[in-house]
Amino acid sequence: MKKLFKPFNIANSVQLKFSLTFLVLIGGLLVMLNTYPTVVSRDLVFSSKQVSLQNQAGVMSSALSTQDRLTGETVREVMQLLDLRSLTRVIVTDEYAEILYDTAQLDPSVGRYALFPEIRRALSGEVVCYSVYDGRAFMTSEAMPIRNGGNTTGAVYLYEYDSSQAQLIGGIQTNLRSISTILSIAAIILMMIFSRALTLRITELVKATKIVSEGNYDHRIETKGHDELSALGEEFNNLTGRLRETEELRRRFVSDASHELKTPLASIRLLTDSILNAENIDNETMREFVTDIGNEAERLQSTTEKLLSLSRIDSGAGLAFEPVDLRRVVEKTLHLLSPLARDRQITISTNLRSGLYVNGNEDLLYRIIFNLAENGIKYNASGGTVEISLSKKNSLICLIVSDSGIGIPEEDMPHIFSRFYRVDKARSREAGGSGLGLSIVCDAVKLHGGSIKVEKRQKRGSRFTVFFPALEEKEEGQ
Ligand code: ADP
Repeated sequence: MKKLFKPFNIANSVQLKFSLTFLVLIGGLLVMLNTYPTVVSRDLVFSSKQVSLQNQAGVMSSALSTQDRLTGETVREVMQLLDLRSLTRVIVTDEYAEILYDTAQLDPSVGRYALFPEIRRALSGEVVCYSVYDGRAFMTSEAMPIRNGGNTTGAVYLYEYDSSQAQLIGGIQTNLRSISTILSIAAIILMMIFSRALTLRITELVKATKIVSEGNYDHRIETKGHDELSALGEEFNNLTGRLRETEELRRRFVSDASHELKTPLASIRLLTDSILNAENIDNETMREFVTDIGNEAERLQSTTEKLLSLSRIDSGAGLAFEPVDLRRVVEKTLHLLSPLARDRQITISTNLRSGLYVNGNEDLLYRIIFNLAENGIKYNASGGTVEISLSKKNSLICLIVSDSGIGIPEEDMPHIFSRFYRVDKARSREAGGSGLGLSIVCDAVKLHGGSIKVEKRQKRGSRFTVFFPALEEKEEGQ
């Protein structure tokens, strides 16, 4: 069995692309959520610690700057007056980096020379500040020179180890991580459900397209909801409906056309058989038979010509458009129809405005006028009239062909422009009609961007009104 449609390569599927995009977006958002608040709060802590250490170092440095020369004793005296509780370690050195004061509990380094680069740089006049966060604690150090007059008499070094703020930030981080995990799981589940539903609906549309493309125009998609896919499904159903109508029209057209061609062919066959089988056929009968064969052949010719015209209009190929003077075309047509009108004793009257031009194909415009006027004569009684008028209303040219003929029943009016439609088959046949004349008129009018309508005349007969878009009016003889 033929497979309905080629399965998609998973690497190319919309579902995968959709899921990956969604995952990348969610991933990016979660990384932001996990890093940004931590980085911002860490920076805030850093700057507040640096300001506080700088202030404290400033206080110590200015308290010690009153001494000409720093000694361990004078430094201790000054330091006793200050509040050093928040600091982990305080070191004061003299100008040669010898440690005069150190608050370290274990191994205080008084009497030794300080090797910290911060102290070395402070002694050369710089204010140095460092902050480090290792995930467990904030470690901040500040070194500042002590000045007396223009001389550097020593340096103050402060160090703070703070784990409580680090714990706070760590707690926030852990909470954010848990929230992110829950959010990611929820997002992935939602994404899977959503993308699955979406791809299922797309797959259904693809399947339906394939079924319809194989000729099953009755297939319909069930549309649920009001989103873009439902709208697409509805459009698909409308399109399929139109396809079915077109296909039906095509089938009917082929069967009607073959019927129309078959009937005169069968008559010709019958007539030739009669001639061939008749033993002693007199000249007059022979002439009668051959005349009938000629009439049928003429009908065949007229039907095939009309079919050709229709297919030319349908394709629009090889039809040249140019400005055409409608009055001239009407006059030419009436000249050709005058023998038929005379024969049927029909009077044709006209009221034609001149200088009305249409951008059109002269041959088709001739056919429009010819078919309408010919019908007015054909479906009329001896002594009847056909009136043709040409006028202009705003930017439209109005062509009216009305007759005092047999009229068209109200219920047939919507159908008379359909191919092969005839109100009275016998009468139409007798008049040499094929039911194609008005469909040629209708298609040709549409091809010119115009419109056509038919109505009952008040007294007797019918009135056909055609509107064409007018070209700029020209003076007669221009
Ligand atoms: P046909 O070749 O049979 O005349 P048309 O397409 O020209 O085919 O017309 C379709 C049918 O409409 C005709 O068979 C006829 O019954 C009806 N019809 C057309 N024009 C007129 C008219 N002026 N008066 C009455 N009936 C008309």
